[in-house]
Amino acid sequence: MTIQEALQIKNRLRADAEFAADARTEALCAQYPEIRKIDEELSSFGPSLVAAAMRGETETLEKLGKDNLELQKKRAALLERFGLRPDEDAPKYACAACKDSGYVGLSLCGCVKKLIATDAYRSAGLGKGLTDKTFDNFRIAFYEGEDREQMERILEFCRRYVANFTEESAPVLFIGKTGLGKTHLSAAIACGVAEKGYRVVYESAQKLYDTYESARFGKDPASVERTELYENCALLIVDDLGTECSTQYTAATFFNLLNTRLINRKPILINTNLNKAQLEKTYGERVLSRLFGEFKVLLFKGKDVRMQKIGG
Ligand SMILES: [Zn+2]
Repeated sequence: MTIQEALQIKNRLRADAEFAADARTEALCAQYPEIRKIDEELSSFGPSLVAAAMRGETETLEKLGKDNLELQKKRAALLERFGLRPDEDAPKYACAACKDSGYVGLSLCGCVKKLIATDAYRSAGLGKGLTDKTFDNFRIAFYEGEDREQMERILEFCRRYVANFTEESAPVLFIGKTGLGKTHLSAAIACGVAEKGYRVVYESAQKLYDTYESARFGKDPASVERTELYENCALLIVDDLGTECSTQYTAATFFNLLNTRLINRKPILINTNLNKAQLEKTYGERVLSRLFGEFKVLLFKGKDVRMQKIGG
């Protein structure tokens, strides 16, 4: 999503909020003629204000301003008397900061950036459970001693990876036992790179194989398209390699995908609970030599963080 597209969405939200507010005002006026009378008086201020401003009549301007404010107060008091909120028919904007204009002063409002980021997460395949994983909420305190030193180095590497990301960044392998934060840091990298506008695909190894399986012999066009994305996107992240039901076919598929991306110098981030021997057993020597020969390998250390979190 471009900034322009995000602003168009905001404009629609703004128009909808104002349209709904107008309808509420109309209903109010129909029910309470006193309100209509005040609104008519209020709308007559516009031309008088412009005229006074053009003639440079500051005193008149001040008086008009005061009268306007008085009328608005009177209107709010009336609404309260009718048991309604003073802002009963004010537009309900999705973002109070920019009133859905997309700008606060001359700067883009945070809601526009959020809209673009959310869209990037969605197209990366990052669900809600993953988009809240950041470098800042990675709990380094769960790691002790040498483990912590190692994890601090990894965390720093990940931050730099996002900051310096290009479509030719190095391939990366996160390796280590379960519950050591591999998914957390993979997701944080995915979000960070997606926010920079790169096409990221985050996929579990199982889903990846299922898609290749459906795409076999061109059976399912959507799956074929997705496999092309695996090969061509700016950053492919494969979560939990080794948990899929592996067959000769999945091993060959994985090798081909790996090869394609490495030959084209496209980055890929893989995380796995398998150790070196298990990886070799599951995917064969060819894959192993690619992973340990060409990837930046990061060994996650520590005690199972998830168990520690459950323990308080
Ligand atoms: Zn906003």
